[in-house]
Amino acid sequence: MCLLVRPLCDSHLWPRQIYALLHDPGDPKHFTLGNGRLTHTMKQMHEYLLCDECEERFNSGGERWVLANALHPSGSFHLRDALRAAKPFVTLEASVAYSGHTSGVDLDKLVYFAASMFWRTSVGMWTLADRWFGRDGKMNLGSRYSEEVRLYLLGKAPFPRNAVSVVYVSDEDAPHASVTFAAGGRQKEGHCSYSFQLPGLMFFLVLGQHIPDTIRGLCAVNNPVQRLVFLTKFPDEFTRRWTAEKMATLDPTALSKLPYPKRNRQ
Ligand SMILES: [Zn+2]
Repeated sequence: MCLLVRPLCDSHLWPRQIYALLHDPGDPKHFTLGNGRLTHTMKQMHEYLLCDECEERFNSGGERWVLANALHPSGSFHLRDALRAAKPFVTLEASVAYSGHTSGVDLDKLVYFAASMFWRTSVGMWTLADRWFGRDGKMNLGSRYSEEVRLYLLGKAPFPRNAVSVVYVSDEDAPHASVTFAAGGRQKEGHCSYSFQLPGLMFFLVLGQHIPDTIRGLCAVNNPVQRLVFLTKFPDEFTRRWTAEKMATLDPTALSKLPYPKRNRQ
């Protein structure tokens, strides 16, 4: 990421601690989704991607705080509790928006973590079952935005101007402990959106020169009104809807029978 000539670590797409949040991979409530596929496989995806300094940058920049405050197997969920105890900024139809300055909420860490996940998914070559994620898959931020996000992650540039980061925190008492791979990128009316989920949280990234004000108004960073974070049942509703469809067709033995994908060398 820093483009310096340094030894690379065996980097994990998902921080190792996320696997600890999914304490029982056999439980139907614990699964991973991505590129239209659902699996109980929690094979840790890794690649030689980052140097140890960049690993630590990701760790202290967001990972450590986010994972400590996400939903834990014990049921503790500090981030949700902090929002529930705070005064809302505005109550909307399906969610409640809170100021990014709410006590117990480190929005900078949430935004940094989300950006690091989108970026590392897009630049690495990650496989799960028969699917490629990242460079050879469907996840692509585009060269211009990829570079802007990289400089932001390095601390050499502010968060990209033509990017919107949206953070949703589950308002369920017992949220789904599920993980989805960062995916998206389909161009729609002058912007692209990407998303991923981890236990109790859902993150969106929208990129483009023509992002509507209605979306900019949700942003956790460059928000013209107030930096926001949302408490909502949305992440769980999304998961429920998605998995209800996929569970019906899931053959748990199918994944192991699939041929290993051919890797396009670059
Ligand atoms: Zn580095």
